[in-house]
Amino acid sequence: MLQVSRLVKQYKKFRAVDDLSFTISPGEIVGLLGPNGAGKTTALRCVSGILKPTEGSILINGYDVVLDQAKAKSGLAFVPEVPSLYELLTVDEHLRFVAMCFDTLDRYEELRDTLLERYDLNEKRNHLVATLSKGMRQKLSVACALIHNANVLLFDEPMIGIDPAGAKELKDEIVRQRDNGSAILISTHLLDTAEKLCDRVIIVAKGRKLAEGTLEQLQHLSNREGQSLEQIFLALTEPEA
Ligand code: ATP
Repeated sequence: MLQVSRLVKQYKKFRAVDDLSFTISPGEIVGLLGPNGAGKTTALRCVSGILKPTEGSILINGYDVVLDQAKAKSGLAFVPEVPSLYELLTVDEHLRFVAMCFDTLDRYEELRDTLLERYDLNEKRNHLVATLSKGMRQKLSVACALIHNANVLLFDEPMIGIDPAGAKELKDEIVRQRDNGSAILISTHLLDTAEKLCDRVIIVAKGRKLAEGTLEQLQHLSNREGQSLEQIFLALTEPEA
């Protein structure tokens, strides 16, 4: 479970995230949507413990990301927008290293084989990360997130750069993880994908939450019955002409 309460992240005087609160329960996929610069990546980086919040609290499975970092992070996996990988490890070594860090080596080999097969990285298992294509790096970053027992999963623009088969596999994987009880937060600009994949969305702009709910709830709240997520998103986020 992920609980974010009154999160503020300030870069000097600029508030990139401003009083953002939301909860994601086990078995939920939630989309974090917003125009460029809305504060999505900043919020995800705070949740993942990379950035220290200026104010507010973030609990992962009940553990505070700042005060109880190791316990909080043991349940968390983060797939960043730009993969951050160790170039001089092979694909296999990289996955093994992540499994070692999270103390999940006991089931490593079976899970590794499944993930390499699923993400079409089998042929590359003994190749250096430095030699992978952009999409392959993104797939490896996803595999690293899935190689340990996280039940809170964060994805920042996960489909970007992945081929159609990989993107389909990733969407199926996200649904599988949700059905196994994970709490999942996905930042994306792909509104069609968000509409199909997410149980609920949070729309942010200029660091603040504008709306949150299922498509039906957003349609109702904005008096736009029957409209698509894209139509509602644009109506909520585009400045009046
Ligand atoms: P996009 O959809 O373009 O990826 P985003 O919603 O993820 O955008 P962020 O990357 O979180 O937005 O940025 C939010 C705001 O914070 C932007 O105005 C950005 O310029 C600013 N910002 C981000 N990182 C820093 C930083 N290190 N120092 C100062 N300002 C920053």
